[in-house]
Amino acid sequence: MSSITGQPGKGPAEIARPQRCAHLTADPRGYPIIATVGQPLGKVDFGTLSEQRKLALATFDLCAVCAHPFGTELRWQVGFDGLLPDRFTEAPVHEICALYAAQVCPFVSSPHARLGDDWRKGLRRPELLTLTGFHRTKAVTGGRSGLQRDSVLLFEMAGPTESHQIRTAEQAWQLYAEALTTDTALAPVPAEQALIDVLCSPTAEENEDSGGVMAGAAWYCGAAFCPNVRKVQGMDRFIRPSSYDQIAARLVLRPTAAADLAESNDMATRAAMNWLLTRTELPEVLSAWRRRGRRQLLDSAMHESTDEQRKKTKRKQQATGRRRNRR
Ligand SMILES: [Zn+2]
Repeated sequence: MSSITGQPGKGPAEIARPQRCAHLTADPRGYPIIATVGQPLGKVDFGTLSEQRKLALATFDLCAVCAHPFGTELRWQVGFDGLLPDRFTEAPVHEICALYAAQVCPFVSSPHARLGDDWRKGLRRPELLTLTGFHRTKAVTGGRSGLQRDSVLLFEMAGPTESHQIRTAEQAWQLYAEALTTDTALAPVPAEQALIDVLCSPTAEENEDSGGVMAGAAWYCGAAFCPNVRKVQGMDRFIRPSSYDQIAARLVLRPTAAADLAESNDMATRAAMNWLLTRTELPEVLSAWRRRGRRQLLDSAMHESTDEQRKKTKRKQQATGRRRNRR
């Protein structure tokens, strides 16, 4: 079987990377470790897309391959057999990152895996693959997808603008080669770079994935109020202890409280708080979560104060009643 046209016999390490992917670490075989895959120290699990990482990517609005922001670029998703789902199970990516992932991605649970080595070597039946570029990520919620038992994060996209129909590995390669000719490096601001650094390197603590640590910081920023996030696999650690929710509530009711945590010892918290404090405008998805959180907290505070008022009135009436009885 032939290999990719123009790339005969090339392994993943030999395929040119887009400049924005230069920082990604690679496993011993040379497969780049993309931002959506967990990377605990010494043990990269290519088979699992991390929901915690997806939560961090959704919160900070970053590409699921290179972890850079989107800026004015479109957000791309993969569809199969001409179908465009309402909601996608993956976080969106840059166009060049989607095309690069199509060349090098070995992850079995990812749609990109359908473009895995077998597909690229022509060992698998070709199928129609559609890459669609959207203007916006409209909403992110927890929910079940297809036959999956556990809830996952689902990405609702809006404003489909461009698309590529890909039927063969050769077409995929040609599109990637074309994209590389206009490839430019991105220039994230320091607060964004700090997020990228945390997400794309293993944490110092053994067996701890930096994505999990970053998701905790995302929870503080407002991911705690993502609809149905509590049912999503891997989120238990943010529900108990309640300190995660308490900080999220404090930050949504009083955004300037982020300054109190901006010097935190935890690298992820520090990066997230500095990002929060330096943004002039928050991403659409996070803004919606925070509005929802604020509403919920104010509603429950109002209920509590009404309840308290009711109890007070009742206590007063009972006391008056007792005084009357004594007469
Ligand atoms: Zn990217």
